[in-house]
Amino acid sequence: MILPIVGYGDPVLRKVCEPISQDYPHLKQIIADMYETMYNAYGVGLAAPQVGLGIRLFVIDTKPFGEDDDLSSEEQTELKSFRKTFINAQMLKEEGEEWGFNEGCLSIPEVREDVYRHEKITIEYYDEDFNKHTDVFDGLIARVIQHEYDHIEGILFTDKISTLKKQLIKKKLQNIMEGKARPDYKMKFAAPKKGR
Ligand code: ZN
Repeated sequence: MILPIVGYGDPVLRKVCEPISQDYPHLKQIIADMYETMYNAYGVGLAAPQVGLGIRLFVIDTKPFGEDDDLSSEEQTELKSFRKTFINAQMLKEEGEEWGFNEGCLSIPEVREDVYRHEKITIEYYDEDFNKHTDVFDGLIARVIQHEYDHIEGILFTDKISTLKKQLIKKKLQNIMEGKARPDYKMKFAAPKKGR
């Protein structure tokens, strides 16, 4: 089932999310719905708070990035097959040089900004079957994980840009809050203006 994506301004996006246990109600279904919702919106990642759940869960599928012809065929292949569910993730280490990339977010439609993040991460998480992993990721995959991990910590990519840029997108963020954004996927806006 495609779920509405929570828009900028909703308090659930600012929550430090809670860990869950294996018997969390309807977990398999929630995960399946999150993938479906993400694919429907052409996203490469989606975190539980973006569908209104304050739990430490996010899903990633970087396939669309694998179409980028500027990347090596090795990188393309890796990105095309990277599909993973992260439960109760804890970032253990972020290292390497910070590099900029133009990011967007399904909860913040029509806003894109360069965000600087470390090249390489070490992260601990559980998969859908609650097997524990500690993995190292780098490059674009690390970046997508960092973006989604921020979501379960209540952080948005727009928090990571300069004060000037924050000022420049203020009106756009206000419009999203008021339900004036028109993405081609279903959204739940924080404070829609009456009569709309
Ligand atoms: Zn996002």
